[in-house]
Amino acid sequence: MNVHGHRKKEIDAAIKRQLNKVAHSTLLGLGNVPSIELAKELIAIAPPGLAKVFYSDSGSSAVEIALKMAYQYWQYLDKAKTRFIHLENAYHGDTIGSVSVGGMDLFHKTYKGLLFESYKADSPYCYRCPKGKNYPGCNFECLDRLRDVLRQHHSSTAALIVEPLVQAAGGIIVWPEGIYRKMRELCHKHNVLLIADEVAVGFGRTGHMFASEAEGVTPDILCLAKGITGGYLPLAATLTTQKIFDAFSGEYKEQKTFFHGHTYTGNPLACAAALANLGLFKKEKTLQKLQPKIKFLGKELEKFKKLKHIGDIRQKGFMVGIELVKNKETKEPYPWEERIGIKVCQKAREYGVILRPLGNVIVLMPPLSISQEELKQLLDAAYKAISEITG
Ligand SMILES: *Cc1c(COP(=O)(O)O)cnc(C)c1O
Repeated sequence: MNVHGHRKKEIDAAIKRQLNKVAHSTLLGLGNVPSIELAKELIAIAPPGLAKVFYSDSGSSAVEIALKMAYQYWQYLDKAKTRFIHLENAYHGDTIGSVSVGGMDLFHKTYKGLLFESYKADSPYCYRCPKGKNYPGCNFECLDRLRDVLRQHHSSTAALIVEPLVQAAGGIIVWPEGIYRKMRELCHKHNVLLIADEVAVGFGRTGHMFASEAEGVTPDILCLAKGITGGYLPLAATLTTQKIFDAFSGEYKEQKTFFHGHTYTGNPLACAAALANLGLFKKEKTLQKLQPKIKFLGKELEKFKKLKHIGDIRQKGFMVGIELVKNKETKEPYPWEERIGIKVCQKAREYGVILRPLGNVIVLMPPLSISQEELKQLLDAAYKAISEITG
């Protein structure tokens, strides 16, 4: 999840400066200067309405925190809303809570006995539409299942958790425009919280600082990690609204608090790296400079379409998924035993680039700082590898 490249002078220096002050001091009952400054910065750039920051150290923890927070919030409001809704193909991390709201059988079925029950809704996976429709013109029928679940179970549901705009680990599933906003409306209507897991899509990945911003959505809880330190150090944050925060405050004797805290939460070195990361977004106009590169990437990907075994090319900003299929007409997938994705990525190494597959999907997620020349090199290597392996 590298953002500005390796050995970035400003981030290196920020960590060293902080190391000369203090490497760690606890956030349990205290603050530290970089954590306070970073919280202020995060709130300034987050979707309007998010007002509070709770730190942790991985995306999975950020999600655990979001789930526990939502669950506890409704207890304070005396509502028996204890369940969650997640989408098919969802990935929210590898801890028990985040796996419980995961929608990828391969990763999750082994632990079934350990997990809590969660309601499922459809994933807006247009290429393999759960309703067999075509976008546009489908009127977002894939939301029907979510509507049904909400209608039936809203009184027992604490929150809907989603990866807005792009379901990453599920295969870079890019959502049709407007559907995330519809999900927000449905949650409002049924008094269910919306948790946006922007661990993958946050910090510029989609071409916007946050994916929620692209559709003018403010989630009730926002999970951030991966790109937060520019890819340097483990840090995560769960942001929420004043309203949710206020539900947790009261008289000492009420013993109201959010019972969660990791030893290295809000680590000052990591927060210093994160502050430098955000500083670079401003100083180097990272998002502005990214836009022509996103266009270039899209244009170059057009060439891939003619390859016989490419079923779908999905792009949102600097997230690309190229889905390889055995048969383009029928969309028949390659059997997993064929290891087609792995083979393509191994071949790409011969051309000097390291790629990673998600099953039959080849993923391109370059650092935002990549130059157009390097991007071209990456695309050429991917093209050659795909055509040689599938040809
Ligand atoms: C990577 C990821 C996580 C988990 O983050 P870790 O830091 O690896 O624990 C959670 N949600 C999404 C959407 C992710 O892509």
